[in-house]
Amino acid sequence: MISACLLGIPCRYDGRHSSCPALISSLGSIHFIPFCPEQMGGLPTPRPPSDIKGGDGRDVLAGNARLINTDGKDVTEAFINGSRAALKLAGLAGSSIALMKNKSPSCGLQTPYCEKPSGLGIGVTAALFESSGIRMFELGSQDAFPTSEFLESLK
Ligand code: SF4
Repeated sequence: MISACLLGIPCRYDGRHSSCPALISSLGSIHFIPFCPEQMGGLPTPRPPSDIKGGDGRDVLAGNARLINTDGKDVTEAFINGSRAALKLAGLAGSSIALMKNKSPSCGLQTPYCEKPSGLGIGVTAALFESSGIRMFELGSQDAFPTSEFLESLK
């Protein structure tokens, strides 16, 4: 599973992508599935960006935090539905590894778009993947890839 925006698909909130050249050039014959949980949850592109209020993705899944976009609209249900759809896709594909776009309130492993004492927390889909045993690696558009940690995970 790979966050679709890392592959150059323009699914970000602002209608742009977060293409990661190092990732794209190293895909070779790897079989992968692009996914965008915010689109899969029914949100349009472009869309107003959202923050997690009252916690992070784990708190959202526990019912203790909400996703509020910059228009003040509660989009929690769309984020949760998208995360479940992404997990279902991973299950259908038998995928147990995911490359996740960093900083996102959906895909990020340490997103700043949340309310945790440290200033960083996990995104909604990342939290659901984590609880389902999917091994995740966080990646930004300028990051090097593959990392030794990722290669080790394939063995
Ligand atoms: Fe979609 Fe995740 Fe990329 Fe955001 S970070 S645009 S939710 S794939």
